[in-house]
Amino acid sequence: MMSTHENFSEFICDKQLIQNYEQIKQKIPPHVTLLAVSKTKPSHMIQVLAEQGQQHFGENYVQEAIAKIQQLKDIKINGEPIIWHYIGHIQRNKTRDLAQYFDWVHGVDRLLIAERLSEQRPKNLAKLNICIQINIDDEETKSGCQPEELPILVEKISQLANLRLRGLMIIPAKNSETAFVKTKQLFDNVKQFHANPSDWDTLSMGMSGDIEQAIDAGSSMVRVGTAIFGVRNYY
Ligand SMILES: *Cc1c(COP(=O)(O)O)cnc(C)c1O
Repeated sequence: MMSTHENFSEFICDKQLIQNYEQIKQKIPPHVTLLAVSKTKPSHMIQVLAEQGQQHFGENYVQEAIAKIQQLKDIKINGEPIIWHYIGHIQRNKTRDLAQYFDWVHGVDRLLIAERLSEQRPKNLAKLNICIQINIDDEETKSGCQPEELPILVEKISQLANLRLRGLMIIPAKNSETAFVKTKQLFDNVKQFHANPSDWDTLSMGMSGDIEQAIDAGSSMVRVGTAIFGVRNYY
């Protein structure tokens, strides 16, 4: 029985959440990591999925994320804590928080940001995992470096002491036909510039609307929000 509260909630109920999660997991082969994008959704929903074995969560808003990270710091998935990914736009004055609270940062597109993250990573923590964002469809409103900048960025960022450069991240344009395939080619081509090529293992692409296409093109990490948590009422 649903409680009155749940009936009027802007959020889906736990049963629906778990059902959505199970359906999405069926679309994802074992070599692909599911990143559950929990932005704007309450800690309670993250906890429910963690109890189902979900370990990777993605957030876009620093203050909102820090509150959840603190609330959920004792949650264990098979004995391990939640792995937190920052997938939002990176502001220069937020790098300290990112370096302190997150395990992964996906949207790095400038050397300066990477240098700050490396300097600000607390020494008692593991290296911060990084994906470089490319503006693959050359959209004016999107973050991300240009493909031509990639070789030098890979070369430089892969040498920073407290970072582990894992791969690439994209958010394709709405009707992009080529973004996934182009990104996979870039991913393969720039590996040679990496100081520790074996770290280069992550292609972060695919969201609720294009999971299968992204996986077919070689994605190794899909970032899924709406299809698991339901629609977002804001941002
Ligand atoms: C919000 C967001 C997602 C999830 O999008 P959905 O369409 O809700 O699955 C994935 N990646 C990034 C960078 C996002 O900001």
